[in-house]
Amino acid sequence: MIFDKYGRPITNLRITITHKCNYRCFYCHREGEDCSDALTVEDVVRLVKVGKKLGMDKVKLTGGEPLTRSDLIDMIEAINEIGLSEVAMTTNGSLLKGIAHHLAKAGLSRVNVSLPSLREGVFERITGVQVLGKVMEGLLEAKACGLEPIKLNVVVLRGLNDDELWNIVDFARKHEFIVQLIELEPININDEFYRIHHVSLEEVELWLQQRAVRIEERKLMHNRRQYDLGDVKVEVVRPVNNPEFCMHCTRLRVTADGKLKPCIMRNDNLVDVLRALRIGLDDSELIKIFMKAVELREPYFKGACNAQAHGKAKVC
Ligand code: SAM
Repeated sequence: MIFDKYGRPITNLRITITHKCNYRCFYCHREGEDCSDALTVEDVVRLVKVGKKLGMDKVKLTGGEPLTRSDLIDMIEAINEIGLSEVAMTTNGSLLKGIAHHLAKAGLSRVNVSLPSLREGVFERITGVQVLGKVMEGLLEAKACGLEPIKLNVVVLRGLNDDELWNIVDFARKHEFIVQLIELEPININDEFYRIHHVSLEEVELWLQQRAVRIEERKLMHNRRQYDLGDVKVEVVRPVNNPEFCMHCTRLRVTADGKLKPCIMRNDNLVDVLRALRIGLDDSELIKIFMKAVELREPYFKGACNAQAHGKAKVC
């Protein structure tokens, strides 16, 4: 297991496998990246293997839209052979129908599906496309294939979907999905959009606190709280100005052009690993590059937590 100098274990590798997307969401943070695609299946597999040697036992594939990659099944099959505890994917779900069972067979453990609205008009205003029906079909197929637990990712947007959160929770209850309410992050988006649409999720969280039969603090997942309402679970993701969130971050990211990215909020401390792959460096050299990226990890929001670094990143 690898720990950064703030004592945070790094257990998750989050890989942007493409920037191509069939949506045009105005709020998309593009995983904090601004680059083009370069990673091959072989590159991804090699990085996952090295990550696993360092204790990163969970992989999340993201994008762009991962389902736009024609070699996705091969990629998942090859990652699955490495033997991780979880291979998950974040998707918009519009291309899931017809492929979900292949993904499950290839070894995908579960999916998070973005569902910004249950109303066709609002869905189209947010995503720029009218594919809500397809997403619904994809969700049901993913469930039938056992790609569970399925989480519905809902970025809460003032004036767009903030009045239908409870309808989405009802929908999740009916289909046994988990809802993830996500606070809009000011990354790669226009300031004016952020000012208009950002909603603090404090009130929502208070409401959930009063009704929950159980509250789970997910220590290795940014210390997010998951509220069990008895018949449905709702998780709240509040990254903005939240030192607690940063102090419990266990992720290392890989950008679509093959750089290790210590923090979604920053692009000034990326560590190139693609060149090392291309010139055929061995695992011990790749491990050094991973360690360099982990060494650069800093909680972005430190605030009152007064996070202190202790020594260097280390493998224990
Ligand atoms: N195309 C896939 C999808 O739609 O889920 C994966 C990529 S998307 C960038 C990954 C996740 O980031 C989605 O759940 C999306 O809603 C969320 N997201 C995008 N922009 C965001 C922002 N500005 N703030 C918070 N979450 C955001």
